[in-house]
Amino acid sequence: MAKAKKVKRQQRILIIYTGGTIGMRQDTKTGALKPVDFATITDQVQELKRLDCIFGFHAFPIAIDSSNVNPDFWEVLARVIEKNYLAYDGFVILHGTDTMAYTASALSFMLEGLTKPIIITGSQLPLGVIRTDAKRNIVTAAEIAVSDIVVPEVCIYFNNQLFRGNRSEKHTSSKFDAFQSLNFPPLAEAGVEIEFNTDDILPPSRKKFKAHHGFNTNVALIKIYPGIHTDVIDTTLRTPGLKGAIIETYGSGNAPTQPEFLRVLKGAVDRGVILLNVSQCSGGSVEQGKYQTSYHLQKIGVISGNDMTTEAAITKLMFLLAQEKSQVTIKKKLLGNLRGELTV
Ligand code: ASP
Repeated sequence: MAKAKKVKRQQRILIIYTGGTIGMRQDTKTGALKPVDFATITDQVQELKRLDCIFGFHAFPIAIDSSNVNPDFWEVLARVIEKNYLAYDGFVILHGTDTMAYTASALSFMLEGLTKPIIITGSQLPLGVIRTDAKRNIVTAAEIAVSDIVVPEVCIYFNNQLFRGNRSEKHTSSKFDAFQSLNFPPLAEAGVEIEFNTDDILPPSRKKFKAHHGFNTNVALIKIYPGIHTDVIDTTLRTPGLKGAIIETYGSGNAPTQPEFLRVLKGAVDRGVILLNVSQCSGGSVEQGKYQTSYHLQKIGVISGNDMTTEAAITKLMFLLAQEKSQVTIKKKLLGNLRGELTV
């Protein structure tokens, strides 16, 4: 654990506003929520001025609810960072909470060779509401971004904790601690002081920064449940053009052993569809072969998603399907660690 010291040089931070609850403000007359003008964010959040750094602002033309986020949006967001990467020391992205963990995972795969922090934050209550969590989330995210302890990763800062983005998931829509990361410790915790978990923060990359573009969305996500019809699985896996699917299994990667179920999965593998096994549990890891109920999956060629979140698994699959030509390479990279998304 380490505490931040005073920064010597004035840092430059780009605040990127995409939308979400954080950017809404209650109209005093109508009570309706409306997006705030983010050019004036330092007026809305006066505390930022005391951080003694230079802020740049970039607002998306239309503020969106993050339920409308898609890979095209990730492309645009990555391009904003790419364009401004040299001009700024860190980036704070204001984003809706609903798909924040997907965006964080997607960006982590797109942005290679990071030496600067990319911190995504949002809030459960809009800016301007008396008990809002927006102010403290923005202020602390910015403080972490200017810190002398650099976190050169795509992270989510929420309710006093900084998480690796591709390890995070939204686990509650009603409490302030909306995010958790059960398989990886927080990278920093903000109490009276901000304590950085320097042992677990990725080192600044020695590779040159590079933004990769492209996702292949010909994928599916199938959650196994008792009573699921194999027809449903088969139909999904026979979707024209399908290249890969995440199978969300029980516990440590277990699934039914009925011959029909396994036949349907094997048929897909034989047709060249990549199947990746992740657990429905937020904590713990897929261990194919530990139980007989996962041994069969291993045998028919389902790939273990290890301890990846579903958000990391689906974005990684879409990313690799677009970036790599060879199935062998895609499978190898799915099993390996690209950006700290799984425990090797
Ligand atoms: N629906 C909102 C969004 O994800 C919720 C939020 O920001 O908390 O954009």
